[in-house]
Amino acid sequence: MSRTPYLAGNWKMHLTKRKASALARGVAAHQGENGNRKVAVFPAFVHLDHVRRNLKGSNVILGAQNCYGKKEGAFTGEISPYMLRDMGVQVVMVGHSERRHVFGESEDMLREKVKIALRAKLDVMLCVGETLAEREANDTFRVLARQMRALKVVKPEHASRVTVAYEPVWAIGTGETATPEMAQEAHAECRRLIAEIFDEASAQAMPILYGGSVKAGNAAELLSQPDIDGALVGGASLSIDDFGPILDAAN
Ligand code: PEP
Repeated sequence: MSRTPYLAGNWKMHLTKRKASALARGVAAHQGENGNRKVAVFPAFVHLDHVRRNLKGSNVILGAQNCYGKKEGAFTGEISPYMLRDMGVQVVMVGHSERRHVFGESEDMLREKVKIALRAKLDVMLCVGETLAEREANDTFRVLARQMRALKVVKPEHASRVTVAYEPVWAIGTGETATPEMAQEAHAECRRLIAEIFDEASAQAMPILYGGSVKAGNAAELLSQPDIDGALVGGASLSIDDFGPILDAAN
């Protein structure tokens, strides 16, 4: 089955309001009317509204990097997925490795986030991936199985609103990239797990993106793998000069 290539930029805690707005305009202009690839950007919360305005009229998807696992309440400093939806956000990232490993988010928390985000009518991008120690201990598939279990809260009719991003932690922001073969092997395993949780048709339809030091120079080779449907890009998504060629590699 052919899946539409999906390229996403995770801007993390970078950029000013002015720079984020300019980058949004650059991504929108680069994407143009292209309907052969999906492109999303994930700015910081405080830039979402500015970026939304600068993406207006384009088909670039607006994403948020995180949300809380509750609709509303006394949770100082947290952001509800319903607030994001109200702001015009279309997709929310759940379980980025920095959320798991820097902020200690547990599998229970992430399951709650997936559930409530879908209920708020946001699409979900679930990030999974092993640490270097886990890979060296041959635990990669076990880790993926544990992390992908968050999808068990997704109703089958909502499976089409979920994207998976496989991001080996040791490759994020390090300049180290998984070889295309290593990435393909992990993606095939993710697809097998999706089939186990839902069914084969959902597994064939669900996009699985690769993330971890993707750049213009390695994007095309990674994207040519049969189970790699796109890329989640951090550092190289912060300027259109770097991100543009990655978008074009999807063609
Ligand atoms: C990420 O933040 O999801 C990521 C993959 O970052 P980088 O591309 O910088 O490794």
